[in-house]
Order: sequence, then C-alpha cells, then structure tokens
Amino acid sequence: MKMFIQGESVDAEGAATFSVTNPATGEVVDSVPKGGREDAKKAIDAASNAFRIWSEKPLIERSRVLLKAAEIVRSEVENLATTLTLEQGKPLGEARSEINSFANTCEYYAGLIGRERGAQTPFSTGEGFFIVTKRPLGVVGAILPWNFPVSLMGWKVAPGLAAGNTFVVKPASTTPLTDIRVASLLVKAGLPPGAVNVVTGPGGVVGDELLESRKIAKIAFTGETATGKRIMEGSAKSIKRLTLELGGSDPMIVCDDADLELAVEGAAWGRFRNAGQSCTSVKRLFLFENIADVFIRRFVEKVKTIRVGNGLERSTHMGPIHTSEQREKVETMVEEAKGRGAKELVRGGRPPNQELSRGNFHTPTVLGDVDYEAQIAREECFGPALPIFIVRDLEEAIERANDTLYGLGSSVWTRNVERAYHAAERIEAGTTWVNSPPIARAEVPFGGFKQSGFGRELGIEGLDHYFETKSIQVLEYGKGKKWAFPIN
Ligand code: NAD
Repeated sequence: MKMFIQGESVDAEGAATFSVTNPATGEVVDSVPKGGREDAKKAIDAASNAFRIWSEKPLIERSRVLLKAAEIVRSEVENLATTLTLEQGKPLGEARSEINSFANTCEYYAGLIGRERGAQTPFSTGEGFFIVTKRPLGVVGAILPWNFPVSLMGWKVAPGLAAGNTFVVKPASTTPLTDIRVASLLVKAGLPPGAVNVVTGPGGVVGDELLESRKIAKIAFTGETATGKRIMEGSAKSIKRLTLELGGSDPMIVCDDADLELAVEGAAWGRFRNAGQSCTSVKRLFLFENIADVFIRRFVEKVKTIRVGNGLERSTHMGPIHTSEQREKVETMVEEAKGRGAKELVRGGRPPNQELSRGNFHTPTVLGDVDYEAQIAREECFGPALPIFIVRDLEEAIERANDTLYGLGSSVWTRNVERAYHAAERIEAGTTWVNSPPIARAEVPFGGFKQSGFGRELGIEGLDHYFETKSIQVLEYGKGKKWAFPIN
C-alpha cells in the first residue's frame, strides 16, 4: 500500500519500504513506503493549501462531508475491520466496533459544528461591546498509536475537520494500513484532496518534521507518556498547540455493596479487551477485604473462559499482543512482581499450542499479593496481566488508587450513590466510571490528569481544542473617551 498525499496514493521520495506484519501469525500483510522529511514536507504543503479551501467552506458543507464520510466508512466496515485485525491483531468484532466508532465520531461532530454559537457582550464600562469568535488553527499533525489506530484518528480528524483545520497524519509504523484506507474514503466523501494526508515512516523522522515545521499549528498526540515528553519538548520551539493523550494505570475499586456479578464481568472485559492494550483499561484492581475471596473465586473462573486466538476466528475472545517487544515487557513485569512475592491466581503466558506459536500470544494473567512497589503496580502494564490488591475501605482504596503518576481513567463499583460520588470527586483521573468498565463515548470529554496528558478529546471540549479564540472589541460611535497624554 502507498502513502496518501494530496488525495493520491504515492511512494516515498526514497525507494525504501517497510513491512506490516500480522501479530497473530508473523506473516507479512503488506508493505508501505518508508517516508522521510521530504515526504512529510510535501504532505504539510498539501495540507496548507487545502486549509485555504476547507476553512472557507460553510459549516453546513463541512458537516455534510463528515456525514457522507461516516456513511461510506460504515458501508466498508467488513473490509476495513479485516485489514485492522490483520495488522493490529484484535478480534474482528472489536475491529468492527472500532471502525463504527470512527463513523460515530464523524457523525457527532457533523451535528455539533452546526450548533456553534457566539455572543456579543457589552464592556463593563459601557462604551462598546466585544465579540468572541473562533477560528480554525491551520494544519494539525496527528501522531497516532497502534492500539486503536482508527478510532483515535477519528478523535482528532473529526473535530479538527469540523472546525475547519486540515491534517497530516502519522500512523504508528505497525498499523498504517487501515488509516490510509480511511483517509482515502474521506476524500471520496468530498473532502478536498490534501485536507487529510497520511505519511508513513519512523516517528523520529516524520514526527520530527511535524514538530519542527512552522506550518504546523498543533500536534494532537496519543501514545506513551515517555514519547509525549519528547513531543512536548519538540513543540516548544515553535509554541505549537498540543493535545497529549498519554498512558494510564486505571484503578478499579470494588466496594462491598457492589453487584459482584457485574463487577466480575466488568473487570474481565475492562482488563482483557484488546489484549489489555487500551490506554484506559483496568490496570489495578482494588477489592474491599470482606468481598475479596468471593470476588477472586468468581473472577478467576471467568478469566479462565477467555479464549485466546487469531482475531479472524469467530470463537476468539482475545487476540495476540501487538508486538513481541510488548509481550516481553508484560512478561518482565509479571516476573518482577513474582520475584517480590506475587502469586499467580491465573497463570498466563505463551500458549503451548503449536498453531499459536508464531504469533505474540499471551494468555490472561492475574496476580494476587502484589507488592505496591512492583513495576506492575507503579508503571503502565500494556497487556493482559492484572494485579489485585485488597483494601480495608474506600479511603484506603482512593489513597492507593491515587498513588501513581497517571490519571487517565478509573472506576468505582457500588450501589451507594454517595460512595460513588465521593470516590469520583477524590480520584485523580480524567474519567471515573461508576459501575462500568471504561467505554469512551463521542459526547463525553476524554483525557488525562497528571502524567496521562492534557487537553481533551471528544465532546464539546474536544472541538474547542481545534479553535483559536479571537476577540473583537468594538467601541460604539461617540461613546469613547479621547486618548491624550498625559494619562491620568
Ligand atoms: P508510542 O508513544 O510508542 O508511539 C505513538 C506514536 O508516536 C507512533 O506513531 C510513533 O511512531 C510516534 N513517535 C515515536 N517517537 C516519536 C518522536 N520522537 N517524535 C514524533 N513521533 C514519535 O505509543 P504506542 O506504543 O503506539 O501506544 C501505546 C501507548 O499509547 C500507551 O502508553 C497507551 O496508554 C497510550 N494511549 C493513550 C491514549 C489516551 O487517549 N490517553 C489512547 C490510546 C493509547
């Protein structure tokens, strides 16, 4: 597959390409051009030119294009989902829902952009009034991770395009294929060529060009906290606007009055969906001591029913880990925790069956008696392993939950609304779900506290991050005072 610049499929300036492999089989799915700085520059120029056209389009037209894009993407869901499963590894059902969520985000912002309102407000001193308007920023560099390559592209391009911006997208090197296809469908829906470009290539090269170019107004980044710090440094040179959606280590707190059946289901889904590779997934489980035994017994039974396999097979619940390096990181964290005394409540690892041996599979792991200083408790574990901690009460749970550098998601499970609200107010995280595993919704702002990043995606707030605020101050005729020195 080629890159997508100025509405066309193109090769890189250099002839080099790199392979995209299937994490379930190790087989090559396709190859893409290894783009460099020159390619990124071309895409930035294409996006700058398209900005002049797109930002002038009436809102109704931008809205129509987004609605059409959603319709086309939905009509291609099977093909797109299959490509996504092949390159990313997730089960086909999850891939379908990711494609549909892209369409959903487009529809949400197509509706929202038509409801933008401004206001004219008198000066407090009475000699005139001011108007606050919103302008698109210009060209946005969207740098994407591999865990939800399509929906996270939607979180950026849908509000950004609705607001009148244009884009250069840099997908993760291991998941470029579906993003390229979706970008081409946006142009098919009526987006001017050049308004969304996709440049494939190394983060340190294509990404650096995006960070350094003065033609890029904003970087919308999703990825690891460590990479986010580099992006922040790189953007400082030209004071770019930034949205950073970074890592997380979400706590899930189960109180003793929770619906345990629901909580067991929620914990299993919340941790092992996408093979545990979600920014907001259950990464630390806190159980009240008086329900811990019952919960653990039921949870262990539940986790043992999760079927690991190739995402293309209907019977698969959980696909492979995306890369072998990522699998090694999970294995290292589990071993380190065991070295500190953790017990394997569910022993996971590389599955013994021959047919899965070529992929990066790792069956679910559940650990008990985990030291709070273990890596798996202190860092982000981006894979199918879950540490369980037992706490006396809600106060201890909240204190432990907040003892992390991260602050992305969290959940509290209780039938008591006061408890739920108290916990939600005190947990330092961008979102607290009550009696629900983490599920992002187009209308709800999403983002992090602390080192999980800043800025918000989705919701009305997500749209605001694609505007510059402009104030116009008007002095009413005859009401102004005279300006003369000296000033008294
Ligand atoms: P990553 O940080 O390794 O890579 C993300 C992107 O940055 C890739 O496209 C990569 O090529 C690019 N990149 C790498 N170095 C760069 C550089 N120096 N300059 C510019 N770009 C560079 O992240 P990943 O492994 O792809 O994704 C997993 C991480 O993303 C996890 O930490 C996860 O929690 C986080 N995540 C956060 C959210 C959120 O909304 N907060 C959502 C999904 C994933």
